[in-house]
Amino acid sequence: MYELLEETTKLIADAIDSHSDLAITTGLNVAGTVLIDLAAKEGFAGDVVFVDTGYHFPETIAFFKDLGDRYETINFVTLSSKTPFEDGFLEDPTRCCEINKVEPLFSYFEEVAPSAILNGRTRDSAKTRTNLSPFEEGTPFKINPLYKWTTRSIIEFAEENSLPIHPLVSEGYLSMGCWPCTRAVEDGQDPRAGRFVGQGRVECGIWTRNTEGKK
Ligand code: SF4
Repeated sequence: MYELLEETTKLIADAIDSHSDLAITTGLNVAGTVLIDLAAKEGFAGDVVFVDTGYHFPETIAFFKDLGDRYETINFVTLSSKTPFEDGFLEDPTRCCEINKVEPLFSYFEEVAPSAILNGRTRDSAKTRTNLSPFEEGTPFKINPLYKWTTRSIIEFAEENSLPIHPLVSEGYLSMGCWPCTRAVEDGQDPRAGRFVGQGRVECGIWTRNTEGKK
């Protein structure tokens, strides 16, 4: 654990040193909380960006506010769609994610244009992420300091260090999403197994769109 933490801390510190406009994106999973805390300890004072799709659990919205109160030197930014797809999850969930989640974040990327972002993805979180690297080319450049961690080890770390944890994690929501599309997972399931239930996908489009380099 110590070596892993040391590597993670170095990745974060180097990112802060190399990118004065560095931002953090988070869906408020426990990995995001640990990332924010480690970055704050390394002096990060940039944007932490969260997309409010309009369909988050009330606990998620309250938790984001709590983080803002706790880390006063960080700028917590909430994004949302200017033209929301109302109840789009009923009609076309993929398009709902595109309009309510992906587009607001990519608009931020275009308008604010951070040269790099930190995020809390891990290799264990889904089969689509088993080959995740610490760095990914793209606009913006992506740095994944927690890529080797498991979600369970991150939860243990957060508990041992008294870090804030989204209240629904203890109920089995190991990957946080919108209430219409997210369920708690059973022991042994991938953390993202509860996402997009019945929709035949595990990604909302943010990371696949990045990976493909599309705008
Ligand atoms: S997760 Fe569901 S409700 Fe949330 S943006 Fe995607 S389709 Fe819409």
